[in-house]
Amino acid sequence: SADSLRELTVFNSFAQLPSAFYTKLPTQPLQRPRLLHANAEVAAMLGLSSAALSTQEFLDVCAGTAPLPGGVTLSAVYSGHQFGVWAGQLGDGRAHLLGEVQAPGGSLEIQLKGSGRTPYSRMGDGRAVIRSSVREYLASEAMAGLGIATTRALALVVGDDPVYRETVERAAVVTRISPSFIRFGSFEHWGSTPENLQVLLDYVVDKFYPECRQGDNNETALRFLREVIARSAKMVADWQTVGFCHGVMNTDNMSILGLTMDYGPYGFMDGFQIDHVCNHTDTQGRYAWNAQPSVVHWNLYRLASSLTGLGVEADALRAELQGYEARFIEAYQANLVRKFGWLRWLDGDDKLVDEWWRLLHSQRADFTLAFRRLAHALSDPQSFLELFSEPAAAQAWLALYAQRLEREERPLDERIASMLAANPLYVLRNHLAEQAIQAAQADDAGEIETLIKLLRTPFTEQPGYDAYAQVAPEWACHLEVSCSS
Ligand code: AMP
Ligand code: MG
Ligand code: MG
Repeated sequence: SADSLRELTVFNSFAQLPSAFYTKLPTQPLQRPRLLHANAEVAAMLGLSSAALSTQEFLDVCAGTAPLPGGVTLSAVYSGHQFGVWAGQLGDGRAHLLGEVQAPGGSLEIQLKGSGRTPYSRMGDGRAVIRSSVREYLASEAMAGLGIATTRALALVVGDDPVYRETVERAAVVTRISPSFIRFGSFEHWGSTPENLQVLLDYVVDKFYPECRQGDNNETALRFLREVIARSAKMVADWQTVGFCHGVMNTDNMSILGLTMDYGPYGFMDGFQIDHVCNHTDTQGRYAWNAQPSVVHWNLYRLASSLTGLGVEADALRAELQGYEARFIEAYQANLVRKFGWLRWLDGDDKLVDEWWRLLHSQRADFTLAFRRLAHALSDPQSFLELFSEPAAAQAWLALYAQRLEREERPLDERIASMLAANPLYVLRNHLAEQAIQAAQADDAGEIETLIKLLRTPFTEQPGYDAYAQVAPEWACHLEVSCSS
């Protein structure tokens, strides 16, 4: 593998699109940049050795001080619906695409976030604070560890630049990695400019959905939509079954590849609340946990509507969109089958799962630990029942669960092993992220390193890390995250 970024094969296919898709411009370097953390696992995906991560060149690129050798630096334009309202033109207001690496598993783009103002910054300062950058860095890797489709994070650089939010904070830059950062909003942007919409569709289909190129252009567009629907349904089903709330599911934050992206005021639930809203700014609860699947559907409608600009018939698009619910249910049930230790979804499971959510909700029982401890709850109920303030209700549910298990032939140890492989012990709880942020503000990456290690294999119990697998402490109940980032 390469010991230097220079040894990578770098190009930028996005920069080959017409210039209306982006603005080429340099990044704005951070003051006194320090590499707080670099991710050897993601480096390996790029074909980079861990030695490359400690070079000055690597810091210079990830701090926005120097361009990526061989790359073309640009910020992309897109539009979108924010909180249900058409927001018009947005774009990379604080992000720069540096280039694309020909990596062993396919091409990967390298993008900086927090790297300075662009023509799409609107009123923003082009920066990201340490707090939100640590959260994005950790969340990308936590989701990857859970096996959930996501953009990745390669490096986290902090600087001395003051950034003005509710208080004065300091700037950081996250280096993000993804096959593409194209969003639903990138398509919406060209809704009334069919030539460019066609260019974008061709680019995305040829590069990422080549199997969709069949029949005429309409047929290709419909197949493409069908595939985005399937991937997005799977993505949100995966969110639901780990208790992940995205927080800002605007169409400009929805990846055209079905990857979780643009981590802001997200949250992994502690105590389960069915209509939990993690983003303090979302006063209407538009992006509550139980609303997420229908929000994805709504966002897919927006994507589909933009395709009418190519002359694709509205009825045909609508027919594709009707497939969403079945795709979602299929993925959601498959996840639950694994989480409950079943072999397949049976009649009556709807009701039992519904009662499970009611039980957790009514007692605000810990989402992650309730599933995790369910594996042993029949033989050793104590640690499961202690998650409930009124254990009688949990005991009653357990009796129904025991009856359900009897309907399938499955050896006990096999069921337990498969449940432990499907229900994480460690998730990125808000208070854990908060501790990592506090340390990072003092240039200490120790907590980030610990969390990255635990969250990379979240199903495997690590001796000595009990504190990372506990319900949230009292002080954390008042933590609030908002759109401020
Ligand atoms: P978000 O909801 O964080 O994904 O951001 C929505 C839009 O605002 C995107 O176009 C971002 O690039 C832009 N934006 C957010 N924060 C800033 C900032 N500090 N400076 C410039 N643009 C920003
Ligand atoms: Mg341009
Ligand atoms: Mg965004």
